[in-house]
Amino acid sequence: MNEMSNRYPVTNRSKVRRLPKRGSAERAQVYAILDAHFLCHIGYVIDGQPYVTPTGYWRHGDRIYWHGSSASRMLRAQTAGIPVCLTVTLLDGLVLARSGFHHSINYRSVMAFGQAAKVEDLEEKTAALNAYVQRLYPGRNAEVRAIQPQELKATTLLGMTIEEATAKVRTGPPIDDEEDYALPVWAGVIPVRQIIGAPIADPRLAPATPLPSHLAPYADGEALDEVLSGTAKAAG
Ligand SMILES: Cc1cc2nc3c(=O)[nH]c(=O)nc-3n(C[C@H](O)[C@H](O)[C@H](O)COP(=O)(O)OP(=O)(O)OC[C@H]3O[C@@H](n4cnc5c(N)ncnc54)[C@H](O)[C@@H]3O)c2cc1C
Repeated sequence: MNEMSNRYPVTNRSKVRRLPKRGSAERAQVYAILDAHFLCHIGYVIDGQPYVTPTGYWRHGDRIYWHGSSASRMLRAQTAGIPVCLTVTLLDGLVLARSGFHHSINYRSVMAFGQAAKVEDLEEKTAALNAYVQRLYPGRNAEVRAIQPQELKATTLLGMTIEEATAKVRTGPPIDDEEDYALPVWAGVIPVRQIIGAPIADPRLAPATPLPSHLAPYADGEALDEVLSGTAKAAG
């Protein structure tokens, strides 16, 4: 695939058929959604049985990484290389219409396809694991103790180069049947956000340990997707 292309290739598996106007293979839109969260669902098949595992992920260019214990069944199954379908969903609002049928949900979602395989290269593995911490808490790697060889060994890292990906987004008010707009039924959108709370210090915190400045974006009341996208008010 052309790395410079602004769009992922669209094939039979990634062609958005249902409400295609909400879909997009634009790389920038896929990245923006992937970068607004860090929880995904990874679908894969072992011996004909589908599994969908929720886990954390992070992105570097077109590579998506996830990790876990070397004893994890999911990670062991994916070690040899396995086709996966990874989805990310951001819930933005509850959409209330004038009929039950037209109730909906505002969301941003991504579906990405690729082959997952174990990352064996120690340099890539160390860099990627550090990047996970860095992605969530920029500057934290400089403060925490470095990863130990046995921790590296106990961790399996999976990487997937995105072959195809689509974003799908619903925004705006409900779409009712024209004759229903006259009904005296409340309709509209209830926005939904994941909001950061005030940090709770570990009861075993070493005395006089201050809250690090790299946690400033995680300010009480900020929206998680904006913190992760770097667009939160406290980020600047
Ligand atoms: C929070 C949330 C709630 C939803 N609620 C409903 C619901 O109640 N009913 C309903 O019918 N649909 C709902 N959807 C949309 C749903 O995800 C599917 O897009 C839809 O059901 C069509 O599925 P399909 O397999 O027929 O799509 P198709 O258009 O046939 O899918 C083809 C390809 O389009 C892309 N694609 C499809 N859906 C998505 C997606 N959501 N994100 C990114 N790429 C996608 C993929 O590449 C996929 O392989 C919801 C989505 C979200 C995120």
